[in-house]
Amino acid sequence: MSINPAGWRPERPETAANAAPATVTGNRALMLEEPLIFEVGSTLTTGVDLAEPPAGKPRLGTLERTTAIGLPGLSEPEAMRHYTRLSRQNYAIDLGLFPLGSCTMKHNPRLNEKIARLPGFADVHPLQPVDTVQGALGVIQELAVWLITLTGMHGVAMSPKAGAHGELCGILAIKAALEAKGEGHRKVILVPESAHGTNPATAAFAGYTVENIPATDAGRVDSAALIARLGPDVAAVMITNPNTCGLFERDMKTISDAVHAVGAFVYCDGANFNAIVGKVRPGDLGIDAMHINLHKTFSTPHGGGGPGSGPVVLSEALSPFGPLPFVAKHADGHFALVEEETAGDDHPQSFGRMVAFHGQMGMFTRALTYILSHGADGLKQVAEDAVLNANYILRSLEGTLSAPFAASGPCMHEALFSDDGFPEGFSTLDVAKGLIDEGFHPMTVYFPLVVHGAMLVEPTETESKAGIDQFVAALRSVAERAKTGDISLKTAPHFAPRSRLDETQAARKPVLVWKDAALAQAAE
Ligand SMILES: *Cc1c(COP(=O)(O)O)cnc(C)c1O
Repeated sequence: MSINPAGWRPERPETAANAAPATVTGNRALMLEEPLIFEVGSTLTTGVDLAEPPAGKPRLGTLERTTAIGLPGLSEPEAMRHYTRLSRQNYAIDLGLFPLGSCTMKHNPRLNEKIARLPGFADVHPLQPVDTVQGALGVIQELAVWLITLTGMHGVAMSPKAGAHGELCGILAIKAALEAKGEGHRKVILVPESAHGTNPATAAFAGYTVENIPATDAGRVDSAALIARLGPDVAAVMITNPNTCGLFERDMKTISDAVHAVGAFVYCDGANFNAIVGKVRPGDLGIDAMHINLHKTFSTPHGGGGPGSGPVVLSEALSPFGPLPFVAKHADGHFALVEEETAGDDHPQSFGRMVAFHGQMGMFTRALTYILSHGADGLKQVAEDAVLNANYILRSLEGTLSAPFAASGPCMHEALFSDDGFPEGFSTLDVAKGLIDEGFHPMTVYFPLVVHGAMLVEPTETESKAGIDQFVAALRSVAERAKTGDISLKTAPHFAPRSRLDETQAARKPVLVWKDAALAQAAE
């Protein structure tokens, strides 16, 4: 299907970069245009020949369909090509650097995939008798022990299925612990300004009132302001460490001590654990609950590539309230699934369940494979290399882009820049779009909110120096174009299948349903 039947052509603004004549097909070199599946093929020339069904009394009564069903009509090769072409328009971690700050888009080792596909892991069913899945339960248990050890915490809830889901789990455990102490009246959760959007959303969803704590000029939480706000109405603080400015919160222990002194709990957003794994144990910082994104730190696929997994490590004070079910190891080496609150067990006052079953088995297998293939020393090096790579980017670009907290010392796993110094009319968005022309997925933009026109770059430890140098050269070139007011940047990307989109329209008035004019008319 090379000629587009709908006669549709991509819209490209006329600029020097794309002044080349449009192709008849709409294709660009080996990048093929692809219309919607309903716009190609024909039901008149595809499908299977079936004999007319014998006449009979329809059993659907008035529900019998009288109009065409509107299915696309593609032959097998057309269908294959349609989806393969669409897949080529995706960007993926297996194609190149994915520098999204806060997302930790690292390489997913193929060994993880191989182990997760072993039939004994891949084909288990959550309702199988416990005696037939001892190996799978052993994986959950062994991973749990690693997570507890790496964080220096008391217990872990394995079932939450994403970071945000883990946040909810942690906050519900805090709520249950407060209610058990007769302190259910505490209604406020303090959240620093630089928090990930999921933190205030979680607190609000769990029924709390969110109060913002400002950041200092150095990009860290204003711990004096936080401590001054503590009181009998505060249930918890939610704090991200390393924070979303890519900095380590050095006052964490002081903050935790002050929070505990007023009877509240400390929730830590541990999505950025990649920067400190093997180096810092959150338990030593006085943290009561922290989610770990297996799909970030422990290299399980994410971002359209796979489900997340957000186990939550819990302090001794919160462990009794953790969710069910959980895996217990008996003295004889046998694994059991604890499905109900049991006195003497780990979660005697459980707040309930987060999910129907036990969590993301495939992610557990991948994460444990990653942990075992690195070992304790290797995980420490993961953090060191991730931090080294981010600092290399920060120092390579600080002469080109404004780096608001560069004076606060080395960054952790991500480097933060701003659009400070761009001429009128040029912004972070133009840099992101220009990077697409250079063949790079843009970094995280306009987050964290505490920095104007933020660009948050997280290379992770899996990028080579050569790969990072190429990215730095591309970002430097695009940033220079923005700084010198190169007007062609305003219409970038020029080389992508679609040029600059109207993102406001796309967000506010998305067209999500295809309507066939002929079908719509027939239905009338
Ligand atoms: C990714 C992330 C989250 C949310 O994790 P999900 O798995 O996407 O729900 C929360 N906080 C921070 C700091 C993150 O980077």
